[in-house]
Amino acid sequence: MSAPTATPATLSEGRRASEPARREYLNLIGGKWLPSRTGKTFENRNPAKSQDLVGTFPDSGSEDVDAAVKAAARAFSSWRLVPAPRRAEFIFRAAEILRDRKEDLARVMTREMGKVLAETRGDVQEAIDMAYYIAAEGRRLFGATVPSELPDKFAMSVRQPLGVCGLITPWNFPMAIPSWKTFPALVAGNTVVLKPASDTPASAHHLIEVLVEAGVPEGVVNIVHGGGSTVGTPIVMHPDVKMISFTGSSDVGKVIAERSAKTLKRVSLELGGKNAQIVMEDADLDLALEGVLWGAFGTTGQRCTATSRLIVMREVHDEMVRRLADRASKLRLGDGLDPATEVGPLVNRAQRERVHSYTEIGKAEGAKLVAGGASATEGALGDGAFYKPTIFDQVKPSMRIAQEEIFGPVLSVITVSSMEEAIQVLNGTPFGLSSSIYTRDVNRAMRAIRDIEAGITYVNGPTIGAEVQLPFGGVKETGNGHREGGPTVIDAFTEWKSVYIDYSGRLQKAQIDR
Ligand code: NAD
Repeated sequence: MSAPTATPATLSEGRRASEPARREYLNLIGGKWLPSRTGKTFENRNPAKSQDLVGTFPDSGSEDVDAAVKAAARAFSSWRLVPAPRRAEFIFRAAEILRDRKEDLARVMTREMGKVLAETRGDVQEAIDMAYYIAAEGRRLFGATVPSELPDKFAMSVRQPLGVCGLITPWNFPMAIPSWKTFPALVAGNTVVLKPASDTPASAHHLIEVLVEAGVPEGVVNIVHGGGSTVGTPIVMHPDVKMISFTGSSDVGKVIAERSAKTLKRVSLELGGKNAQIVMEDADLDLALEGVLWGAFGTTGQRCTATSRLIVMREVHDEMVRRLADRASKLRLGDGLDPATEVGPLVNRAQRERVHSYTEIGKAEGAKLVAGGASATEGALGDGAFYKPTIFDQVKPSMRIAQEEIFGPVLSVITVSSMEEAIQVLNGTPFGLSSSIYTRDVNRAMRAIRDIEAGITYVNGPTIGAEVQLPFGGVKETGNGHREGGPTVIDAFTEWKSVYIDYSGRLQKAQIDR
């Protein structure tokens, strides 16, 4: 595979990725690093310090997508024939490279996205975990052998790759989410065209570079940078793309599902959430407090699994809210590269405006603001997209701040009088991603596991913290039934073929010969 043409240095040359030396990134199409055919580029800037330019990226269009899909389709004819354990060896190699380069990759991720270094290290670690986990799957990819109803006949089902997969990813887990899609797709024998979010293109780009360095053949992985309508839509509409794996907002997910229906493409959707933590009166309140602080304000509330509602029993409401407001207002905001920082900026200023509009909505709806509620602009914070951790008390379940995904550091507290009411409130939104209950009563915990409508339920833990070896996804408007992560990700990226082998030497008729 040819080397990058316009990148003055690669990460493998020992330079720290956090150093602003590298400015010009390219697309990878058919093994070649290329500028966009549109000739346009866009900038990627640090949301904590607007003068810090992470790099420029190709602002691509449909011609770039078409070239990438054609390259991926060509590569598929040979990649699908590489034995799965051998395909997996490339992913093992990628895991080792990622592990060795974790710190550099985390630093550049903090620069492009803002979340604190401990969390960007976790994001890279998630890619490493997924690489090791799914590479081992290369020696399994289990099908099933079952008995035939006829004598001298053998029956089994095998997995087959789909072809070219279009992967479209959001900005909040800039490397983890692209890895959750790319690695399983490749182990299963597919080739890919990846379009990362234009707010965080560098981390996805570095992931693809690592795969190139690991020796993945030309055309098997392709990356096309650019916008949702200019690059995402052409991927979705392309007749040679067999499958779309999309993680992002429910609104865009619905548009993609509708468009994909025209060619009956397979679509795996991981969408929005309005996750809640329930605190029962018997809970360990110290633990519940730590959980909600981490769940609501970690990643500045920009996780699909972030805790955006606290459903608390009346008996412990006053103590919880008082302690929570106190702790939230003391969280240290700042540049994520500063080890003292607990909460980084929002991903950009537009997102900050959006978050603030929900503060205004909450006030207008009559909820009581008990912490935050404004941009943080003191000193150096003035140059970034910072927003104070915000808590609304006396929120009614029907209010917009209790129903709509805000995707920022805003927590709505809802008071309830019983376990049944708590679960009813938790289930009462259009979403169903993550959920949590704090209780010391095992009977209550088991009932919550049974009755909560969500893809993920934590007991005595916050709503965030998924691990790669379990299915990940949600119900209702959070998705369309697929589960990426865990063994179920293989279902998203393979097609079943049933195989019958008749060694009787005569015509046998199922259901008729009896
Ligand atoms: P988004 O939906 O705006 O964008 C996601 C990706 O889709 C981006 O790459 C974007 O460029 C692209 N895109 C936009 N319009 C498109 C179109 N018409 N056709 C094809 N592609 C298009 O989401 P975002 O703001 O990047 O991310 C935040 C959202 O992602 C939140 O709703 C969050 O809950 C969700 N999310 C969900 C999960 C999950 O696993 N359930 C994980 C992370 C984030």
